[in-house]
Amino acid sequence: MRSETISKKYCNDLTSYSRYITRVVKIGNVPLGGINPIRVQSMTTTDTMDTLATVEQSIRIIEAGGEYVRITAPSINEAKNLENIKNELRKRGYDTPLIADIHFTPNAAEAAARIVEKVRINPGNYADKKKFNIIEYSDSEYESELERIRQKFSPLIKICKEYGTAMRIGTNHGSLSDRIMSRFGDTPLGMVESALEFVRICEELNYHEIVLSMKASNPKVMVEAYRLLINKMEEEEMNYPLHLGVTEAGDGEDGRIKSAVGIGTLLEDGIGDTVRVSLTEEPEFEIPVARDLVSRYSYRTGHKIIPPITDNPLDPFDFKRRESIEIDKTGGHNVPVVIINADDNIRNNHSALADLGYRYSESLDKWNIGDSAADFLYLGCNDIKYELPGTLRKIFDYEFWIDYPGKNDSYPLFNAEEYISEEDNRGKQNFLSLSIDDLSDEMINKISDDKNCVIVLGTDNEHSMAEMRRVFMKLINHNINAPVVVRLKYENIPEEKLMLYSATDLGGLLLDGLGDGIWIESNDTSLRKINNISFGILQATRTRISRTEYISCPSCGRTLFDLQITTSMIRRRTDHLKGVKIAIMGCIVNGPGEMADADYGYVGSGPGKITLYKGRDVVKKSLNSEIAVDELINLIKESGDWTEPS
Ligand code: SF4
Repeated sequence: MRSETISKKYCNDLTSYSRYITRVVKIGNVPLGGINPIRVQSMTTTDTMDTLATVEQSIRIIEAGGEYVRITAPSINEAKNLENIKNELRKRGYDTPLIADIHFTPNAAEAAARIVEKVRINPGNYADKKKFNIIEYSDSEYESELERIRQKFSPLIKICKEYGTAMRIGTNHGSLSDRIMSRFGDTPLGMVESALEFVRICEELNYHEIVLSMKASNPKVMVEAYRLLINKMEEEEMNYPLHLGVTEAGDGEDGRIKSAVGIGTLLEDGIGDTVRVSLTEEPEFEIPVARDLVSRYSYRTGHKIIPPITDNPLDPFDFKRRESIEIDKTGGHNVPVVIINADDNIRNNHSALADLGYRYSESLDKWNIGDSAADFLYLGCNDIKYELPGTLRKIFDYEFWIDYPGKNDSYPLFNAEEYISEEDNRGKQNFLSLSIDDLSDEMINKISDDKNCVIVLGTDNEHSMAEMRRVFMKLINHNINAPVVVRLKYENIPEEKLMLYSATDLGGLLLDGLGDGIWIESNDTSLRKINNISFGILQATRTRISRTEYISCPSCGRTLFDLQITTSMIRRRTDHLKGVKIAIMGCIVNGPGEMADADYGYVGSGPGKITLYKGRDVVKKSLNSEIAVDELINLIKESGDWTEPS
C-alpha cells in the first residue's frame, strides 16, 4: 500500500515553489517540457481550406507571442492543405511549429503527421463514435476494446516516429468515450484513464514524444484531473509534459477569470509546460492573457520561506469545503462573503452603491440588493455619510469601533495585538486580521475559545496562495473552525493583471474548499471592477452563483456561425438568468460532446442552421439561424428557467 505522502503527490512541494519537471518533447524548433520556459499557444479560427486567411491569422498569433499555432484538420482535405499553409508561412519567414487538431478522423491525423510538427488527438473520439451508450464490459471485453484501439492508433504512432512528429493526447471532460464513461463515469479518473490508455500503447511502441492535457469547462474538474494525472503518471513512472487549458471558457472578463482560476491554480504548484487560454475572441487576444498568467512564475523561486507541511489534511483529488461555524451569515453553509474597501466616492455619494451591486428603486426610494451585491463595506476609521442598505454591513478598525455609537450595527476589525489584549471589548462578530506569523500557540488557543471570531487572513508572501493554504492546513489540524475571509492586496498593477492574479490566488484556495469570504484590495482599480472580479471568481469556482454561465467554444475552422456576435447576442438577452448554464458551440461534431454540464445548448449544425439542446437532448433541430436565438429563449421559457429581467 502506498504511503499517505505518495498517494497525495501531484507536485514537487506545496510550500516551496518549483517547476514540476517533465521530459523534454521536441516540437519543431521549440522544445517543450523540462526546464524550457512555459510556452504559450493559440488556435486559428479560419477555414483551414482558406490558406491565405489561415496564414494571416497564424501570423497574428505568432506576432502576439504565440510559440505554437494549432489548426483544425476535420478531414483529409484540410490535413493535406496544412502543407500549403506551412509552406506559405515558411516562405514569409515564420518557422513557428504547427499543430494539427484532430477529432474522429484517423486518416486526417495520419496525413497531418507527415506535414506538421505535432498532432493533437482526442482519445475520446479517435477510435470511437459517441452514442451515449452505457455498456457493461467484462474484463475480457474491455481488453478486446483496447486491442481495437491499438489497431486503429498504432499506424499514427508509427508515422509520428518516422517523421519526428510530436503528439498531444488531449482529453476533454465533455467528450469521453462511451467505454470510459461506462467504466469510470464522467469523472477526473475517467479523464486520466482515457489518456493513459493511449499513452500505454505509445509506450509499447517505444514512442515518447507525448504531451498530455485534461481540459474541462469547469475549473474544479480540470484541476482535479491534472493533479490526478500527475499522481498516476508517478505511479507508472511517466513524466510527460502538460498542456494546460480550461475549455469553452467564454469571452471577456468571465472567460479570463475562469481560465485564470483553472490554469493559475496549477501553475501555482509548478504544474504545466504550455498554456492555451480558450476565449471566444480573436485568437491573438489569447496570447497576452496566457503570457500574464505564466510570467508570474519566472521569478517565483526564492520567495519568503513557508514552513513545510508535515500533515496535509486536504484531499487534492476530491474537493470538500472546509468545515466552519456560522457567525451571522458568514461561514458554515453560507456562500462566501464579499468585502469591499470604501473609497471617498462611496463615503460621500450613495449613488456609488450601484458599483457594489445594489439597485436603486425610485418608486420605493430605497436600494435593493442585486445578485452580485457586496456583503460588507470596510470603512477603516471613517464613518459613511448616509444610511447603508441593511444587507451591506459596516466594518471599522477596532480603535474607531470601540467608541462608535452604532457599535451594535457594525463590526470591529482587530489586529493580532488588539485581539489578545482587548478580550473584554469584543462584539457579536469579531474580524481578526492575521498572517501566518501571528498564529502562535497563544493565538490558536484564543481563537479556539472564541465563537464569534472571523479570521481575515492576509499575506505579503509572493507565493501567497501556498502560504495561505499552509495556514488553512494548520487551522484544520488544530480543529479551529472559525470562518476565514481571504484578504489580498495588489498594488501598482493594471486591471487586467489584477483580474488574473486575484483569480489565480483566490481561485486556488476556493477550489480546495478553503475560504468563507474574499476581500480584494487595489488602489489602482475601481470598486465596481473589484466587486465584479470578486463575484466572477466565486462564480468560476462555483462557490457562489450570481450570474448566467456561458460555455462558449473558442471557434475553429469547423465553426458554422459567427461565435462572437452570437455569444454577445445571447448574452444580452439572458445575462439575468442567475445560475443557468448556456453553451454556444460552433459545430455539431464536437459541440454537444464538449458542452459538458450545460443546461441549454445552441449548436451549429450546418451552414445557417442551429440545433438546440436541453441538457444532452436535442429538442429543436436545424432551425434557421435568424430565429434560433428567439427559439432558445422560448425553450428556456417552456422549461421553466426564464425570469423577466428587472
Ligand atoms: S465546438 Fe467549436 S472549437 Fe470545438 S471543434 Fe466545434 S467549432 Fe471548433
